[in-house]
Amino acid sequence: MEENNGMVAELISVGTEILLGNIVNTNAAYLSEQCARLGLSLYFQTVVGDNEERLTQALTQAISRSDIVILTGGLGPTKDDLTKEVTAKAAGRKLVEDPKARKVVADFFEARRIKQKDITENNWKQALVPEGATVLPNPNGTAPGLIVDCQGKQVILLPGPPGEMRPMFEKSVFPYLQKRSPGIIYSRMVKLCGIGESKAASMIGDLIEGQTNPTIATYARTGEVHLRVTAKAENEEQGKKLVKPMVRELKKRFGVHIFSTKEDGTLEEALVDILKERKYSLATAESCTGGLLTARLVNVSGVSEVLKQGYVTYSNKAKHRLLGIPKGLIKKYSPVSDRVAAEMAKGAAANAGADVAIAVTGIAGPHGGTEEKPVGTVFIACSVKGQVTVREYHFDGNREKIRESSVVCALTLLRECILPQIR
Ligand code: ATP
Repeated sequence: MEENNGMVAELISVGTEILLGNIVNTNAAYLSEQCARLGLSLYFQTVVGDNEERLTQALTQAISRSDIVILTGGLGPTKDDLTKEVTAKAAGRKLVEDPKARKVVADFFEARRIKQKDITENNWKQALVPEGATVLPNPNGTAPGLIVDCQGKQVILLPGPPGEMRPMFEKSVFPYLQKRSPGIIYSRMVKLCGIGESKAASMIGDLIEGQTNPTIATYARTGEVHLRVTAKAENEEQGKKLVKPMVRELKKRFGVHIFSTKEDGTLEEALVDILKERKYSLATAESCTGGLLTARLVNVSGVSEVLKQGYVTYSNKAKHRLLGIPKGLIKKYSPVSDRVAAEMAKGAAANAGADVAIAVTGIAGPHGGTEEKPVGTVFIACSVKGQVTVREYHFDGNREKIRESSVVCALTLLRECILPQIR
Protein backbone atom coordinates (compact mmCIF):
# COMPACT_ATOMS: atom_id res chain seq x y z
CA MET A 1 0.00 0.00 0.00
CA GLU A 2 1.39 3.36 -0.99
CA GLU A 3 1.69 5.94 1.69
CA ASN A 4 -0.79 8.74 1.27
CA ASN A 5 0.76 11.81 2.78
CA GLY A 6 -1.22 14.81 1.72
CA MET A 7 -3.48 15.57 -1.17
CA VAL A 8 -4.14 13.28 -4.09
CA ALA A 9 -4.35 14.69 -7.58
CA GLU A 10 -5.48 13.02 -10.80
CA LEU A 11 -5.22 13.96 -14.46
CA ILE A 12 -7.71 13.57 -17.28
CA SER A 13 -6.54 14.44 -20.78
CA VAL A 14 -9.50 14.99 -23.08
CA GLY A 15 -9.24 14.54 -26.83
CA THR A 16 -9.85 11.84 -29.42
CA GLU A 17 -6.65 12.99 -31.16
CA ILE A 18 -4.64 11.75 -28.18
CA LEU A 19 -6.36 8.35 -28.22
CA LEU A 20 -5.63 8.00 -31.92
CA GLY A 21 -1.98 8.84 -31.42
CA ASN A 22 -2.23 11.94 -33.60
CA ILE A 23 -0.79 14.04 -30.82
CA VAL A 24 1.52 13.12 -27.98
CA ASN A 25 0.17 13.76 -24.50
CA THR A 26 2.80 16.26 -23.43
CA ASN A 27 0.28 18.00 -21.15
CA ALA A 28 0.15 14.92 -18.91
CA ALA A 29 3.94 14.75 -18.72
CA TYR A 30 4.15 18.43 -17.82
CA LEU A 31 1.36 18.29 -15.23
CA SER A 32 2.74 15.13 -13.60
CA GLU A 33 6.05 16.90 -13.10
CA GLN A 34 4.27 19.93 -11.66
CA CYS A 35 2.25 17.77 -9.24
CA ALA A 36 5.52 16.24 -8.02
CA ARG A 37 6.93 19.75 -7.57
CA LEU A 38 3.90 20.60 -5.46
CA GLY A 39 4.20 17.46 -3.36
CA LEU A 40 0.84 16.15 -4.55
CA SER A 41 0.41 12.39 -4.83
CA LEU A 42 -0.65 11.31 -8.30
CA TYR A 43 -2.03 7.79 -8.70
CA PHE A 44 -4.05 7.92 -11.91
CA GLN A 45 -3.95 9.50 -15.36
CA THR A 46 -6.70 8.97 -17.89
CA VAL A 47 -7.03 9.77 -21.58
CA VAL A 48 -10.58 9.99 -22.82
CA GLY A 49 -12.02 10.95 -26.21
CA ASP A 50 -14.50 13.73 -26.95
CA ASN A 51 -17.44 11.66 -25.80
CA GLU A 52 -19.92 12.87 -23.21
CA GLU A 53 -20.71 9.55 -21.62
CA ARG A 54 -17.16 8.31 -21.25
CA LEU A 55 -15.90 11.69 -20.08
CA THR A 56 -18.64 11.78 -17.43
CA GLN A 57 -17.62 8.30 -16.32
CA ALA A 58 -13.94 9.24 -16.11
CA LEU A 59 -14.67 12.44 -14.20
CA THR A 60 -17.06 10.82 -11.73
CA GLN A 61 -14.54 8.11 -10.95
CA ALA A 62 -11.72 10.64 -10.56
CA ILE A 63 -13.77 12.79 -8.16
CA SER A 64 -14.60 9.72 -6.09
CA ARG A 65 -10.96 8.87 -5.40
CA SER A 66 -8.93 12.10 -5.66
CA ASP A 67 -8.96 15.55 -4.04
CA ILE A 68 -7.95 17.47 -7.13
CA VAL A 69 -8.81 16.57 -10.71
CA ILE A 70 -7.04 18.41 -13.50
CA LEU A 71 -8.56 18.17 -16.97
CA THR A 72 -6.96 19.51 -20.13
CA GLY A 73 -8.56 20.00 -23.54
CA GLY A 74 -12.10 20.31 -24.80
CA LEU A 75 -12.65 23.88 -23.64
CA GLY A 76 -12.84 25.38 -27.12
CA PRO A 77 -15.82 26.69 -29.08
CA THR A 78 -16.65 23.62 -31.17
CA LYS A 79 -19.39 21.10 -30.56
CA ASP A 80 -17.03 18.31 -29.57
CA ASP A 81 -15.56 20.49 -26.81
CA LEU A 82 -17.50 19.06 -23.88
CA THR A 83 -15.31 19.33 -20.80
CA LYS A 84 -17.04 22.35 -19.30
CA GLU A 85 -20.55 21.00 -19.91
CA VAL A 86 -19.72 17.62 -18.40
CA THR A 87 -18.05 19.20 -15.35
CA ALA A 88 -20.99 21.58 -14.76
CA LYS A 89 -23.39 18.62 -14.85
CA ALA A 90 -21.24 16.56 -12.47
CA ALA A 91 -21.04 19.52 -10.08
CA GLY A 92 -24.79 20.17 -10.37
CA ARG A 93 -24.20 23.72 -11.57
CA LYS A 94 -25.78 25.77 -14.34
CA LEU A 95 -23.65 27.33 -17.05
CA VAL A 96 -23.84 31.11 -16.83
CA GLU A 97 -22.20 33.81 -18.87
CA ASP A 98 -19.14 35.40 -17.28
CA PRO A 99 -18.88 39.07 -18.36
CA LYS A 100 -15.07 39.06 -18.14
CA ALA A 101 -14.83 35.93 -20.24
CA ARG A 102 -17.23 37.47 -22.77
CA LYS A 103 -15.05 40.54 -22.98
CA VAL A 104 -11.97 38.37 -23.63
CA VAL A 105 -13.73 36.77 -26.61
CA ALA A 106 -14.88 40.18 -27.90
CA ASP A 107 -11.40 41.69 -27.47
CA PHE A 108 -9.75 38.72 -29.18
CA PHE A 109 -11.79 39.28 -32.33
CA GLU A 110 -11.52 43.04 -32.18
CA ALA A 111 -7.71 42.78 -32.08
CA ARG A 112 -7.95 40.72 -35.26
CA ARG A 113 -10.24 43.31 -36.87
CA ILE A 114 -13.17 40.87 -37.01
CA LYS A 115 -16.54 42.62 -36.70
CA GLN A 116 -18.96 41.60 -33.94
CA LYS A 117 -21.56 40.47 -36.50
CA ASP A 118 -19.04 38.11 -38.13
CA ILE A 119 -18.20 36.29 -34.90
CA THR A 120 -19.89 32.91 -35.12
CA GLU A 121 -22.29 32.10 -32.30
CA ASN A 122 -20.28 29.11 -31.02
CA ASN A 123 -17.43 31.42 -29.98
CA TRP A 124 -19.60 32.92 -27.24
CA LYS A 125 -19.82 29.45 -25.74
CA GLN A 126 -16.36 30.16 -24.35
CA ALA A 127 -17.85 32.88 -22.12
CA LEU A 128 -20.07 30.35 -20.32
CA VAL A 129 -18.81 29.09 -16.99
CA PRO A 130 -20.28 26.78 -14.31
CA GLU A 131 -21.98 28.96 -11.69
CA GLY A 132 -19.64 29.83 -8.82
CA ALA A 133 -16.50 28.73 -10.68
CA THR A 134 -13.21 30.57 -10.36
CA VAL A 135 -12.29 31.90 -13.80
CA LEU A 136 -8.60 31.78 -14.73
CA PRO A 137 -7.43 34.27 -17.33
CA ASN A 138 -5.94 32.95 -20.56
CA PRO A 139 -3.59 35.59 -21.98
CA ASN A 140 -2.72 33.31 -24.90
CA GLY A 141 -6.17 32.30 -26.11
CA THR A 142 -9.91 32.77 -25.73
CA ALA A 143 -11.01 29.84 -23.56
CA PRO A 144 -10.51 30.69 -19.87
CA GLY A 145 -9.45 28.06 -17.36
CA LEU A 146 -11.82 27.16 -14.53
CA ILE A 147 -11.75 25.83 -11.01
CA VAL A 148 -15.02 24.20 -10.03
CA ASP A 149 -15.94 22.85 -6.63
CA CYS A 150 -17.47 19.43 -7.15
CA GLN A 151 -18.72 17.71 -3.99
CA GLY A 152 -15.88 19.30 -2.02
CA LYS A 153 -13.27 18.20 -4.58
CA GLN A 154 -11.56 20.72 -6.83
CA VAL A 155 -11.91 20.19 -10.56
CA ILE A 156 -9.49 22.29 -12.59
CA LEU A 157 -10.18 22.79 -16.29
CA LEU A 158 -7.34 23.92 -18.55
CA PRO A 159 -7.17 24.51 -22.31
CA GLY A 160 -5.57 21.82 -24.49
CA PRO A 161 -2.91 23.79 -26.39
CA PRO A 162 0.31 23.59 -24.34
CA GLY A 163 1.12 27.20 -25.22
CA GLU A 164 -2.05 28.24 -23.36
CA MET A 165 -2.11 25.55 -20.68
CA ARG A 166 1.43 25.92 -19.34
CA PRO A 167 1.46 29.69 -18.74
CA MET A 168 -1.99 29.41 -17.14
CA PHE A 169 -0.82 26.63 -14.86
CA GLU A 170 2.34 28.49 -13.89
CA LYS A 171 0.55 31.81 -13.27
CA SER A 172 -2.77 30.78 -11.72
CA VAL A 173 -2.93 27.08 -10.83
CA PHE A 174 0.48 26.52 -9.28
CA PRO A 175 0.06 29.30 -6.66
CA TYR A 176 -3.51 28.14 -6.01
CA LEU A 177 -2.43 24.55 -5.34
CA GLN A 178 0.62 25.64 -3.40
CA LYS A 179 -1.63 27.55 -1.01
CA ARG A 180 -3.86 24.53 -0.47
CA SER A 181 -1.19 21.94 0.16
CA PRO A 182 -0.15 21.56 3.80
CA GLY A 183 3.56 21.91 3.07
CA ILE A 184 5.47 23.01 0.04
CA ILE A 185 8.02 21.39 -2.20
CA TYR A 186 10.91 23.63 -3.04
CA SER A 187 13.37 22.57 -5.69
CA ARG A 188 16.39 23.86 -7.54
CA MET A 189 17.92 22.63 -10.74
CA VAL A 190 21.62 22.17 -11.42
CA LYS A 191 22.49 21.39 -15.05
CA LEU A 192 25.76 19.80 -16.12
CA CYS A 193 27.52 19.23 -19.42
CA GLY A 194 30.74 17.53 -20.44
CA ILE A 195 30.22 14.74 -17.92
CA GLY A 196 28.35 11.44 -18.19
CA GLU A 197 25.47 10.45 -15.92
CA SER A 198 27.29 7.58 -14.23
CA LYS A 199 30.37 9.68 -13.54
CA ALA A 200 28.18 12.46 -12.17
CA ALA A 201 26.24 10.02 -9.99
CA SER A 202 29.45 8.46 -8.67
CA MET A 203 30.75 11.89 -7.71
CA ILE A 204 27.74 12.42 -5.47
CA GLY A 205 27.19 8.81 -4.36
CA ASP A 206 27.65 9.76 -0.71
CA LEU A 207 25.13 12.61 -0.97
CA ILE A 208 22.54 10.41 -2.67
CA GLU A 209 23.04 7.59 -0.18
CA GLY A 210 22.61 9.78 2.86
CA GLN A 211 19.77 11.89 1.47
CA THR A 212 16.62 12.56 3.43
CA ASN A 213 15.53 16.17 3.04
CA PRO A 214 16.53 17.53 0.56
CA THR A 215 16.83 14.75 -2.00
CA ILE A 216 18.78 14.74 -5.25
CA ALA A 217 17.47 13.17 -8.44
CA THR A 218 19.58 12.80 -11.59
CA TYR A 219 18.12 12.95 -15.08
CA ALA A 220 20.17 12.12 -18.17
CA ARG A 221 19.53 14.22 -21.26
CA THR A 222 21.47 13.99 -24.54
CA GLY A 223 24.94 15.20 -23.57
CA GLU A 224 23.67 16.75 -20.36
CA VAL A 225 22.92 15.65 -16.81
CA HIS A 226 20.30 17.48 -14.76
CA LEU A 227 20.27 17.29 -10.98
CA ARG A 228 17.16 18.32 -9.12
CA VAL A 229 17.50 19.12 -5.44
CA THR A 230 14.10 18.93 -3.75
CA ALA A 231 13.11 19.79 -0.21
CA LYS A 232 9.83 19.34 1.66
CA ALA A 233 9.25 22.35 3.85
CA GLU A 234 6.64 24.35 5.69
CA ASN A 235 7.19 27.43 3.58
CA GLU A 236 9.34 28.73 0.76
CA GLU A 237 11.84 30.37 3.07
CA GLN A 238 12.49 27.12 4.90
CA GLY A 239 12.67 25.27 1.58
CA LYS A 240 15.34 27.64 0.31
CA LYS A 241 17.30 27.20 3.52
CA LEU A 242 17.26 23.41 3.17
CA VAL A 243 18.24 23.40 -0.49
CA LYS A 244 20.97 26.04 -0.41
CA PRO A 245 23.80 24.07 1.28
CA MET A 246 23.22 21.12 -1.07
CA VAL A 247 23.37 23.34 -4.16
CA ARG A 248 26.55 24.89 -2.78
CA GLU A 249 28.05 21.42 -2.33
CA LEU A 250 27.12 20.46 -5.91
CA LYS A 251 28.76 23.65 -7.17
CA LYS A 252 31.91 22.72 -5.27
CA ARG A 253 31.97 19.22 -6.73
CA PHE A 254 31.03 19.90 -10.33
CA GLY A 255 32.53 23.37 -10.76
CA VAL A 256 32.70 24.47 -14.38
CA HIS A 257 30.67 21.50 -15.56
CA ILE A 258 27.62 23.40 -14.30
CA PHE A 259 26.26 25.47 -17.15
CA SER A 260 23.02 26.59 -15.53
CA THR A 261 21.11 26.60 -12.27
CA LYS A 262 18.00 27.99 -13.91
CA GLU A 263 14.91 25.80 -14.23
CA ASP A 264 14.72 26.36 -18.00
CA GLY A 265 18.33 27.37 -18.64
CA THR A 266 19.78 25.91 -21.84
CA LEU A 267 23.31 25.12 -22.90
CA GLU A 268 23.07 27.42 -25.91
CA GLU A 269 21.87 30.26 -23.70
CA ALA A 270 24.79 29.77 -21.31
CA LEU A 271 27.18 29.68 -24.22
CA VAL A 272 25.88 32.86 -25.82
CA ASP A 273 26.24 34.58 -22.43
CA ILE A 274 29.93 33.59 -22.24
CA LEU A 275 30.57 34.71 -25.82
CA LYS A 276 28.95 38.07 -25.08
CA GLU A 277 30.91 38.45 -21.88
CA ARG A 278 34.20 37.79 -23.69
CA LYS A 279 33.08 39.88 -26.66
CA TYR A 280 33.77 36.96 -29.02
CA SER A 281 32.03 36.69 -32.36
CA LEU A 282 31.12 33.23 -33.64
CA ALA A 283 30.83 31.31 -36.91
CA THR A 284 29.74 27.73 -37.49
CA ALA A 285 30.59 25.22 -40.23
CA GLU A 286 28.40 22.15 -40.40
CA SER A 287 28.46 19.01 -42.44
CA CYS A 288 26.56 16.08 -40.89
CA THR A 289 24.49 18.32 -38.61
CA GLY A 290 23.27 20.29 -41.63
CA GLY A 291 22.37 23.50 -39.79
CA LEU A 292 21.10 21.89 -36.59
CA LEU A 293 23.90 23.43 -34.53
CA THR A 294 23.26 26.91 -35.86
CA ALA A 295 19.53 26.44 -35.29
CA ARG A 296 20.19 25.55 -31.62
CA LEU A 297 22.19 28.74 -31.20
CA VAL A 298 19.47 30.76 -32.89
CA ASN A 299 17.05 29.52 -30.19
CA VAL A 300 18.64 32.21 -28.05
CA SER A 301 17.15 35.64 -28.48
CA GLY A 302 19.96 38.16 -28.84
CA VAL A 303 22.34 35.68 -30.49
CA SER A 304 22.74 38.16 -33.36
CA GLU A 305 25.16 40.05 -31.14
CA VAL A 306 27.65 37.19 -31.44
CA LEU A 307 26.71 34.91 -34.34
CA LYS A 308 28.20 36.18 -37.60
CA GLN A 309 27.58 33.35 -40.00
CA GLY A 310 26.63 29.70 -40.28
CA TYR A 311 27.96 27.62 -43.16
CA VAL A 312 26.22 24.41 -44.14
CA THR A 313 28.88 22.68 -46.22
CA TYR A 314 27.56 19.21 -46.84
CA SER A 315 29.43 18.45 -50.05
CA ASN A 316 33.17 18.49 -50.62
CA LYS A 317 32.60 21.20 -53.21
CA ALA A 318 30.93 23.43 -50.62
CA LYS A 319 33.74 22.81 -48.15
CA HIS A 320 36.14 23.99 -50.83
CA ARG A 321 34.07 26.87 -52.20
CA LEU A 322 32.69 28.34 -48.98
CA LEU A 323 35.47 27.51 -46.53
CA GLY A 324 38.46 27.53 -48.85
CA ILE A 325 39.66 24.01 -48.03
CA PRO A 326 41.94 22.73 -50.82
CA LYS A 327 40.29 19.92 -52.80
CA GLY A 328 43.46 17.84 -52.51
CA LEU A 329 43.40 18.06 -48.72
CA ILE A 330 39.82 16.80 -48.52
CA LYS A 331 40.72 13.93 -50.87
CA LYS A 332 43.87 13.06 -48.97
CA TYR A 333 42.40 13.03 -45.47
CA SER A 334 38.71 12.32 -46.31
CA PRO A 335 35.92 14.78 -45.48
CA VAL A 336 35.35 13.04 -42.14
CA SER A 337 38.73 13.58 -40.51
CA ASP A 338 40.34 15.63 -37.80
CA ARG A 339 42.26 17.57 -40.43
CA VAL A 340 39.18 18.60 -42.44
CA ALA A 341 37.28 19.48 -39.25
CA ALA A 342 40.15 21.77 -38.25
CA GLU A 343 40.24 23.37 -41.70
CA MET A 344 36.48 23.89 -41.61
CA ALA A 345 36.76 25.76 -38.30
CA LYS A 346 39.68 27.85 -39.52
CA GLY A 347 37.96 28.59 -42.84
CA ALA A 348 34.70 29.58 -41.16
CA ALA A 349 36.49 31.91 -38.74
CA ALA A 350 38.52 33.51 -41.51
CA ASN A 351 35.73 33.89 -44.05
CA ALA A 352 33.19 35.19 -41.54
CA GLY A 353 35.77 37.34 -39.76
CA ALA A 354 34.84 35.70 -36.44
CA ASP A 355 36.98 35.28 -33.28
CA VAL A 356 35.64 31.80 -32.67
CA ALA A 357 34.40 29.05 -34.98
CA ILE A 358 33.02 25.60 -34.39
CA ALA A 359 32.92 22.91 -37.08
CA VAL A 360 31.32 19.47 -37.29
CA THR A 361 31.92 16.69 -39.79
CA GLY A 362 30.90 13.08 -39.34
CA ILE A 363 29.04 9.99 -40.49
CA ALA A 364 25.44 10.13 -39.28
CA GLY A 365 24.49 6.90 -41.07
CA PRO A 366 22.82 4.61 -41.65
CA HIS A 367 25.09 4.37 -44.73
CA GLY A 368 28.61 5.59 -45.33
CA GLY A 369 30.41 3.88 -42.46
CA THR A 370 33.66 1.95 -42.94
CA GLU A 371 35.60 -0.35 -40.67
CA GLU A 372 38.01 2.41 -39.86
CA LYS A 373 35.33 5.05 -39.50
CA PRO A 374 32.04 3.43 -38.51
CA VAL A 375 28.68 5.22 -38.46
CA GLY A 376 28.72 7.61 -35.51
CA THR A 377 32.29 8.80 -36.06
CA VAL A 378 32.25 12.58 -35.73
CA PHE A 379 35.05 15.15 -35.64
CA ILE A 380 34.41 18.48 -33.98
CA ALA A 381 36.87 21.34 -34.18
CA CYS A 382 36.89 24.64 -32.39
CA SER A 383 39.04 27.60 -33.33
CA VAL A 384 39.54 30.37 -30.79
CA LYS A 385 41.60 33.28 -32.08
CA GLY A 386 43.47 30.90 -34.37
CA GLN A 387 44.11 28.20 -31.79
CA VAL A 388 42.38 25.02 -32.93
CA THR A 389 41.20 22.10 -30.81
CA VAL A 390 39.90 18.97 -32.58
CA ARG A 391 38.24 16.02 -30.96
CA GLU A 392 37.02 12.66 -32.26
CA TYR A 393 33.71 11.23 -31.01
CA HIS A 394 31.92 7.93 -31.47
CA PHE A 395 28.19 8.19 -30.98
CA ASP A 396 25.60 5.47 -31.11
CA GLY A 397 21.97 5.48 -32.12
CA ASN A 398 20.19 6.33 -35.33
CA ARG A 399 20.87 9.23 -37.68
CA GLU A 400 18.75 11.64 -35.64
CA LYS A 401 20.42 10.69 -32.36
CA ILE A 402 23.93 10.94 -33.81
CA ARG A 403 23.21 14.40 -35.20
CA GLU A 404 21.68 15.52 -31.92
CA SER A 405 24.66 14.20 -29.92
CA SER A 406 27.00 16.00 -32.33
CA VAL A 407 25.25 19.30 -31.68
CA VAL A 408 25.42 18.98 -27.89
CA CYS A 409 29.08 17.92 -27.97
CA ALA A 410 29.90 20.81 -30.30
CA LEU A 411 28.26 23.25 -27.87
CA THR A 412 30.11 21.59 -24.97
CA LEU A 413 33.50 21.68 -26.73
CA LEU A 414 32.95 25.30 -27.70
CA ARG A 415 32.17 26.13 -24.09
CA GLU A 416 35.26 24.26 -22.95
CA CYS A 417 37.48 26.14 -25.39
CA ILE A 418 36.26 29.58 -24.37
CA LEU A 419 36.30 28.75 -20.66
CA PRO A 420 39.97 27.69 -20.46
CA GLN A 421 39.86 26.81 -16.78
CA ILE A 422 37.92 23.62 -17.61
CA ARG A 423 41.01 21.97 -19.05
P1 ATP B 1 -9.09 25.29 -28.25
O1 ATP B 1 -9.62 26.48 -27.52
O2 ATP B 1 -7.85 25.63 -29.03
O3 ATP B 1 -10.12 24.53 -29.02
P2 ATP B 1 -9.27 23.16 -26.32
O4 ATP B 1 -9.16 23.40 -24.87
O5 ATP B 1 -10.62 22.86 -26.86
O6 ATP B 1 -8.56 24.35 -27.07
P3 ATP B 1 -8.50 20.81 -27.71
O7 ATP B 1 -9.41 21.26 -28.82
O8 ATP B 1 -8.86 19.60 -26.98
O9 ATP B 1 -8.32 21.99 -26.67
O10 ATP B 1 -7.02 20.70 -28.25
C1 ATP B 1 -6.47 21.72 -29.02
C2 ATP B 1 -5.04 21.37 -29.38
O11 ATP B 1 -4.25 21.40 -28.18
C3 ATP B 1 -4.82 19.98 -29.93
O12 ATP B 1 -5.03 19.92 -31.30
C4 ATP B 1 -3.38 19.72 -29.57
O13 ATP B 1 -2.53 20.31 -30.50
C5 ATP B 1 -3.26 20.40 -28.25
N1 ATP B 1 -3.46 19.46 -27.14
C6 ATP B 1 -4.65 19.08 -26.61
N2 ATP B 1 -4.49 18.21 -25.60
C7 ATP B 1 -3.16 17.99 -25.50
C8 ATP B 1 -2.35 17.17 -24.68
N3 ATP B 1 -2.89 16.41 -23.71
N4 ATP B 1 -1.01 17.21 -24.84
C9 ATP B 1 -0.46 17.98 -25.81
N5 ATP B 1 -1.17 18.77 -26.63
C10 ATP B 1 -2.49 18.79 -26.49
